[in-house]
Amino acid sequence: MKAVCWHGANDVRVDTVPDPKILNPRDAIVKITSTAICGSDLHLYDGFIPTMEKGDILGHEFMGEVVEVGSGVNNIKVGDRVVVPFTISCGNCFFCNRDLWSLCDNSNPNAWIAEKLMGHSPAGLFGYSHMLGGYAGGQAEYARVPFADVGLFKIPDGLTDEQVLFLTDIFPTGYMAAENCRIQSGDIVAVWGCGPVGQFAIKSAFILGAERVIAIDRIPERLRLAETYGGAETINYEDADPGEVLKEMTGGRGPDAVIDAVGMEAHSMDAMGVYDKVKQAVRLETDRPTALRQVLVACRKGGNVSIPGVYGGFLDKIPMGAAFNKGLTFRMGQTHVHKYLRPLLELIQEGKIDPSFIITHKLPLEQAPHAYEIFKHKKDNCIKVVLKP
Ligand code: NAD
Ligand code: ZN
Repeated sequence: MKAVCWHGANDVRVDTVPDPKILNPRDAIVKITSTAICGSDLHLYDGFIPTMEKGDILGHEFMGEVVEVGSGVNNIKVGDRVVVPFTISCGNCFFCNRDLWSLCDNSNPNAWIAEKLMGHSPAGLFGYSHMLGGYAGGQAEYARVPFADVGLFKIPDGLTDEQVLFLTDIFPTGYMAAENCRIQSGDIVAVWGCGPVGQFAIKSAFILGAERVIAIDRIPERLRLAETYGGAETINYEDADPGEVLKEMTGGRGPDAVIDAVGMEAHSMDAMGVYDKVKQAVRLETDRPTALRQVLVACRKGGNVSIPGVYGGFLDKIPMGAAFNKGLTFRMGQTHVHKYLRPLLELIQEGKIDPSFIITHKLPLEQAPHAYEIFKHKKDNCIKVVLKP
């Protein structure tokens, strides 16, 4: 089959690789009809996630048709149309039983590597390094889905791929980011980053009752989408310091909740940004946490900090004193996708949201190298690419 393979920083290729096979009774094989590139893939593309190996198949946002099931899968059959959560979960462990699906204890066969770095291992993820399981991803013609009885979600007739594909990741991620703000009526939520995750966080914050959402970025078409589709007010951080503007916009108090939908590769124009770039380049710092620093300073006293943006390791110069003295509450993590599939599918069916609003490009899988380039560099007004195998 054809698959998008990682060959090093800024080097992905469409290779011919062996078809996946059923390995365990709870596996299924899915023939992929749509797959997308995520901001998280850029951290791999840019070479910042350790334990990638040449030839690893990328991709964790994919859906398609079941073509084979193992003997232990009884609730899914060949021919079913399914979406696949990017987090791999067993459905039976302490964490899955508590709806903490991205923290599954049984889906990372390389847990020992993650344990060395983090104390404990999160769930395995599709196409996201050997430290997180070494699973082949879904930017390919076929994928093997482990724990398919809990990891495949059947899609009812009448919905297009484009409407449901993002149930695999960015829609639940934006939604959980907003939920983590514990929004109360009248709340003002500020969102750093108007990429796909930021856009879904904006929409979800309104769905969950926010009165105002203020979105921060510098890419004009992304700010525009946040305004027109999302209904947000916007700040271009190239024009003004977001912290100062937010203070003015909130009567001096600051937003009730802040969302960092940027993560470890924040862009920055100040001296601290140069410091991060240099330290990250020589591997003295794993992440460039500009947005995280800003959200902590901007948040109102006693406010909620939600961090869907991915962080990889050890961060410098985090204003912990601000967070502590203002009594902020932090919530973060990889999304518990399984928990959100049914409620968010219902929002789509009720017409409360049409996730396809985010798509700017649909390209054949063969054009993946070009797609990574335009998505990374925001060329050609690219906001989200769907690849068609
Ligand atoms: P993206 O790269 O398309 O979007 C990031 C946006 O942040 C861009 O529009 C960029 O211009 C903006 N930005 C950069 N620096 C900024 C700054 N200093 N201030 C404000 N905005 C800034 O990526 P995405 O797909 O939207 O993903 C965003 C983050 O969410 C990534 O870190 C990704 O890894 C993460 N993510 C997390 C989960 C999860 O489960 N928690 C799931 C999916 C994605
Ligand atoms: Zn993703």
